[in-house]
Amino acid sequence: MFTYIDPTVRTRLEEQGKLFQIDRDGVLLQTDRVAAGGAGISVLGPIPLPLRLGDNEIPVDWYACVRRTELGKIEEIADELRAQHGQASFATLASSMAVNSVLIIGDPATWQNPLVRVHSSCMTGDVFGSERCECGPQLHMALQRIQRDKQGGIVIYMSGHEGRGIGLWAKAATYLLQDGGENTYEANRSLGLPDDSRDFTDAGSLLKFFVGDQPFRLLTNNPKKVQDLEQMGLREITRVKHVTGVGDNNRGYLSAKQDWGHELTPEDIGTD
Ligand SMILES: [Zn+2]
Repeated sequence: MFTYIDPTVRTRLEEQGKLFQIDRDGVLLQTDRVAAGGAGISVLGPIPLPLRLGDNEIPVDWYACVRRTELGKIEEIADELRAQHGQASFATLASSMAVNSVLIIGDPATWQNPLVRVHSSCMTGDVFGSERCECGPQLHMALQRIQRDKQGGIVIYMSGHEGRGIGLWAKAATYLLQDGGENTYEANRSLGLPDDSRDFTDAGSLLKFFVGDQPFRLLTNNPKKVQDLEQMGLREITRVKHVTGVGDNNRGYLSAKQDWGHELTPEDIGTD
């Protein structure tokens, strides 16, 4: 069977503990107990990443994480493609796989109540620096706050969360609708899409594995995010306000979030 990683390399990484599987409850699975494509998450790492934000150097350990069901399906299709000499389509296959990232700052062995950010991917904000939202500054500020924190902590970057789960293509359409006068949630509804379709299940499993059952502080203004993680069995979450990147280009967007339930004050968004 085609494996996404060459079998000898796979074995070597598994022996080094740098390719491993966890189940939905964040429990490490023994390699021989892992069924192909079964439930759970495959993890590759730690991979040292020397980040630089402005003058600030932030060394992190990166873990790449993918749902086993998704990886299993990709491997199956890749197998068929290989039989048909269709390797040229591998890139299309790989790019459709949602690989989440875990970034560890500091030494997890010393954590008692680490600082955590579960960040939803945003191509326009995180990568291009768009000010239509405040995602880019929120991500960078989270990395800086965690680095400055005595305990350190973790950023979980959810790659499948673009546009609150509707994907980049639909998000582009909602931007055009917003420019016609709708707010961010109304635009989703106009397209027949939910206000928020983000799934935090994988984030919950990863937090259980990397943070364990100790309490943690979550950088977010969104009480629903805390509730979603609590439903995963993570009980001791303290919400920490995380406001940054507010400006003329996103004040309306933040007002809509405030109306929807985000705990933002008029002072936070400069509308008082
Ligand atoms: Zn954004």
